[in-house]
Amino acid sequence: MQEPQSGYRISVRSLLLRPNEKKTVDLTIDSETAGAYGLPCRELPHLDGLLENRAGVLMLSYTLRCVPALECDRCLSPVEMPVEEQFSHVIVTETASEQNDAEYLLAPDAMLDLAEVAMTDLRLSMPTKILCRPDCKGLCPVCGQNRNLTDCGCNSADITLDYQ
Ligand SMILES: [Zn+2]
Ligand SMILES: [Zn+2]
Repeated sequence: MQEPQSGYRISVRSLLLRPNEKKTVDLTIDSETAGAYGLPCRELPHLDGLLENRAGVLMLSYTLRCVPALECDRCLSPVEMPVEEQFSHVIVTETASEQNDAEYLLAPDAMLDLAEVAMTDLRLSMPTKILCRPDCKGLCPVCGQNRNLTDCGCNSADITLDYQ
């Protein structure tokens, strides 16, 4: 797999060291990078937030907006599902066992890859099943037509009936 480009890596060293230090995060992830993480987007992911050292604890809080290019799991038609989610993480340079949690982001060399953070958060926030509508009828297993659009008349329960 191709290594996603890393122009989104930022150093958080001075933020880690200085209490009350802040840095705004305002960044758009390009389509190549979003695609490399397996989530191509119709509207590119945009991060809007803050890195802030709160009394010695470095926090990343941001809002992620995008429109992923999804398709229905049943009928494969495009699904429009705009995402607007808030995330927050504590940034640590080493993990303790009790911090084995998505809330904690590991930045061992004080470098943070914002694309990786955002795309991972985005993927984890997606529902496991994507449907164009809750009652999607899917594709006909006999003729392959989209049964939301046409009533193909196939009887998938007993295929031979159609030929009698
Ligand atoms: Zn569907
Ligand atoms: Zn059919």
